[in-house]
Order: sequence, then structure tokens, then C-alpha cells
Amino acid sequence: MTAVDRPAERTTADLLLEWDRQRPRSRQRELGWSEVGGCRRRAGYRLAGAEPTNPGGSVQAVLGTAIHDAVQQRLVETAAPEDLVEYPVEFAGIPGHLDRYEAEHARLVDVKTTSSRWLDHIKVHGPERSHLWQTNGYAAALIGQGRPVREIVIDYIARDTGDLHRWTGRPDPLQVKAALEWIRAVRSVPVDMLNRDYAPDGPFCQHCPFFNRCWDGATPGRDPRSVLLVEDPDAAGWAAKLWQARQDIAAAKDREAEAKGALDALRPNEAGGSDVLDVGFELGLLWTITDSERLDTTQVRAEYARVGARPPTKTSTSTKLSFVPLPDGPAP
Ligand code: SF4
Repeated sequence: MTAVDRPAERTTADLLLEWDRQRPRSRQRELGWSEVGGCRRRAGYRLAGAEPTNPGGSVQAVLGTAIHDAVQQRLVETAAPEDLVEYPVEFAGIPGHLDRYEAEHARLVDVKTTSSRWLDHIKVHGPERSHLWQTNGYAAALIGQGRPVREIVIDYIARDTGDLHRWTGRPDPLQVKAALEWIRAVRSVPVDMLNRDYAPDGPFCQHCPFFNRCWDGATPGRDPRSVLLVEDPDAAGWAAKLWQARQDIAAAKDREAEAKGALDALRPNEAGGSDVLDVGFELGLLWTITDSERLDTTQVRAEYARVGARPPTKTSTSTKLSFVPLPDGPAP
């Protein structure tokens, strides 16, 4: 067999992604509870029955699935007869698969894998809206089947550290109502007019099965978001939006510096991490002081120049967009 005949070599990542794409859940075409509250446009494609244009999936998601499968396997072996494990449900015509229902405690448990960075965020801010909607949707489905649900548990596991955080709450009909309103709003807008809720270079879009269709029409060689101007050619409107966003950022930074400076009066530590301080706000305050060593590039360049060499550099391109006075425009 020549090199030309030989099938292209597949990496371990390719094999993992292939495995993931063949799972029945990855081949699901309709909107499921796990996508409710995420990207409105992606949900719109699902509701419209659109064919995916990209394979989707990610190695991180596969790692999450593998953890899930291990947990499920153990649960299947140990579950009580009335418990439910990896159980298909449907509420308001939206399907889903709950991870487990512990009948004895009327407890619904969902397992989510995440990065340790995002886990830190969840510990402070609580579960994402979509996780609350998903689990409450499952709870509503179970209650509709006559199974009581008194408690909802979301177990978050950090893939990189193994850290576990358990969130516990009660079923909340208002979450279900909000989720159904979100679905109704998505349905009421033609799919190609739905908001793109994520950035094209971020992980959600990069692993989205509708990426090509979603960003199709962008100016060739430019940011995929250039499609927004193609769809809405109000350049002055976009410029005003950018101007306002920069004003808001500057004002927010000023407010942040002011509040942080005021609270520095309470800082108990001169180095390292402080104890958590309760100042009567809903979250505690924690100061962390770190010393960092930054490369002295002026010195490095001088040292290289002394021996007649140039320091190694990497080329990177960035696009800066500034506001400047128009040549014949009114003074700002
Ligand atoms: S590519 Fe991004 S913005 Fe577009 S549908 Fe998918 S997640 Fe949403």
C-alpha cells in the first residue's frame, strides 16, 4: 500500500470525537432540555429541524461523557428498584435524559463536568441559568408522571482537578415558566433573525454543529462577525454601539477602582491570601496579594544587542480600531 492509498492517520483526539459522534445523543436532531437557555440561534436551528453543517463536539465534552458513563455504570449496579438512571423524559414536547432520580429521597441528580476555572465561578455565582432550566424541566416531567421531586442536586466535577461541588435546590415552577417563555420567544422569530449568543472564536461556537450555516455570509478574510454588518448595513449604528460600549467599560472600570480602593481600608493582609471577610454583603471578601516577576524586555534587548544578536520574537497580528476626528467634521 502506497502512502497515497493509506488512510489518513487518525489521532487519539480523532478517535474520541468519532466515538462521541456515533452516540445516539450526539445524533439527536431535535431541541433537548440540555440546549434550552443556551444560544437562541442554535435552539432555532434545532426547532427548525436544520441539518448540522459541522461535526460539532469536543475532546473536553468526550471527557465529560466518559466521566458520566462511569458514574452511570456504577449507579445502574447499585440503584434501588424504584430509582431511575439515565432515564428519558419529556416535558412540553422537549425531550431530555435525566442522570438519576433517587426515589427514597424524591431527589433528582444531574452531573456536570466543567473546568476548575468555571467551577470557581459556579461556587460564587451559582449554576448557570440553562442548568437550572434543564433540571427543573426534568423535575416537571417527573412530577407529571406522578413521581414527587423534593430536591434538585447538581454535582459539578472539575475535569482537571477532580474537585467536586454540589449545588442543592428545590424545584421551582418559575424556572420552568421562564424556560418555556424562552422557547416560545425563540419559536416566534425566523431562524435567520435569531441572535447569535456566542462569539465565533469561543468554545461554544467552535464546537457548534451549525457553525458554518450560522456565520455564512461574512466578508471573506474578515472576522466572522462581519456578517452582522452584511445583514444590518447601518455602519453609523455599529460605530455608535462600539463608542457606547467603550464608554460603559471605562465607567465600569472607574467604579470598580473606586469601590476596590474604598474596601482596601478593611484588607487584613500584606501578603498571600486573606481570611474570608464577612462585611454583610451576600458574598465574602478575599484579598490575594501576589508578587510576579515580569521579564525586563528593555534589559533583555540590551543584553542581546551587547553581543550583536536580536532576541527571538514571534509575529502576531492585532487589529486596532480607534475613533478619530473627521477631517472636515464638527469638533467633538
Ligand atoms: S455558531 Fe455560535 S452563535 Fe451560531 S448557532 Fe452555534 S453557538 Fe450559536
